[in-house]
Amino acid sequence: MSGGVVIIGAGQAGGRAALTLREKGYAGPVTLIGDEPVPPYERPPLSKDMLLDPATSPTWLVPEDAWAAGDIRLITGRAAAAVDRAARRVRLDDGTVLDYDHLIFATGSRPRRLPFQVSRLAELRRLEDVEALSVRAVDARSVLVIGGGVIGLEVAATLVQKGLGVTVIEIGSRLLGRNFPAPVAAALAERHAAEGVILLTGVRIRDLSDTADGVSAVLSDGRVITADFAVAGIGVVPETGLAQAAGLVIDDGIVVDHDMRTADPAVFAIGDVAAWPGPDGRPLRCETWQNANITAERAVAAILGNPLPAPETPWFWTDQYNLNVQLAGVTGPEADGARIVSQAAGAGRLFLVLDGDRLIGAAGINAGRDMAACRRLITAGARLPAGMIAAGSFDAKAARDLLRPAAASARPAYA
Ligand code: FAD
Ligand code: NDP
Repeated sequence: MSGGVVIIGAGQAGGRAALTLREKGYAGPVTLIGDEPVPPYERPPLSKDMLLDPATSPTWLVPEDAWAAGDIRLITGRAAAAVDRAARRVRLDDGTVLDYDHLIFATGSRPRRLPFQVSRLAELRRLEDVEALSVRAVDARSVLVIGGGVIGLEVAATLVQKGLGVTVIEIGSRLLGRNFPAPVAAALAERHAAEGVILLTGVRIRDLSDTADGVSAVLSDGRVITADFAVAGIGVVPETGLAQAAGLVIDDGIVVDHDMRTADPAVFAIGDVAAWPGPDGRPLRCETWQNANITAERAVAAILGNPLPAPETPWFWTDQYNLNVQLAGVTGPEADGARIVSQAAGAGRLFLVLDGDRLIGAAGINAGRDMAACRRLITAGARLPAGMIAAGSFDAKAARDLLRPAAASARPAYA
């Protein structure tokens, strides 16, 4: 009997791949292996609604009975321990052996860890982490957040709203240096400061230790910070060990082509762990919810021999306080050299990242609808008229008009 498709990692990407295989009519066996004890769930709520209110239920990818109903064999609480590519076999940590025709690595990433053995130091990646963090927060008065990235700042926003004194320390010279344009990071920093969060940038932790009733951190500038507990959000490392042991090429992530296929035609990688060709053709990993979904869809298309889905502009979001911040296209350090124009967008604000008159990136604070238009403009490689760039506020209708092909009667005869 055919081994069908075996997927290692039952997270966002792995779960989405299994579901998409069935939606697209794949009739062979589909096996989804996850080392967490629960069915696939969405991680974004962990640092948002679930931390704010621990009674919030997890957001499951699909209701639990949908896996069996879709004839997807979901194995939870078991890790894939070895892959034999020559024999096309996966061995699980309980000795079970599974054959495959196609194998998908969807092993995600794990939090980067600080080199300190401290009992009151939390991280946030899994359901059990948010449960543990919520318990710690109940009786605490103060927390030290290490890392001023997306997770650190979402945790800071949530815990200060719960009444804790929050100090954030960030190694970089500013917050959110990895993937936010400077003016957007500055706007968020201003809001955190207004809420009472203490923000320390350009400092690293020299030492972190448990005290009788909390933690004590010695910073690189000699300052000592104490708190009831600490949370680290200092980035992630891709979970590549199994793929590396199986002889696949690793360059930060598992190296794949545009169709998410490795050099072994039967083996794919998707989600956080996949390093697929970036804009300059070099392997690039992307750690977002959207990337998990679109890479899953690409791998499934390749397995089924269907055309690949059209490329999408990368985007992601963060929620802090009552601010929904969305980013699309070029918004990381590359944007710092570009022209950034700030415009009002309803009650929110929009930041347009421009290469000449071409929109290459955008960031919106409480400007979800306008960001949808911006995403389409970026994908289309649209050039913005000078008046639209100079305007004090974003004109969504004019933006949508730019995307509409001109009526035939309006086109010059030579077009
Ligand atoms: P994961 O979701 O990490 O899934 C990988 C799974 O594989 C895990 O369950 C892992 O335990 C399992 N696994 C690993 N090795 C094995 C093995 N050998 N055998 C079996 N199973 C294995 N992105 C956004 O765009 N917006 C957000 O607001 C946002 N918020 C986030 C908040 C938090 C707290 C976190 C942690 C992430 C957030 N993200 C957000 C990022 C997004 O959730 C990830 O990019 C996405 O989950 C990646 O999906 P994945 O399937 O590649 O990895
Ligand atoms: P990030 O990489 O976004 O941020 C980590 C931050 O911590 C960086 O600014 C980093 O600086 C800093 N840092 C690293 N080491 C130290 C240290 N020793 N002391 C102080 N600061 C340090 O990772 P997160 O942990 O915030 O997020 C984890 C994952 O979740 C990522 O994959 C992220 O992409 C994903 N995600 C989450 C979202 C969300 O919560 N809304 C949205 C999208 C994705 P430097 O860059 O200089 O190393």
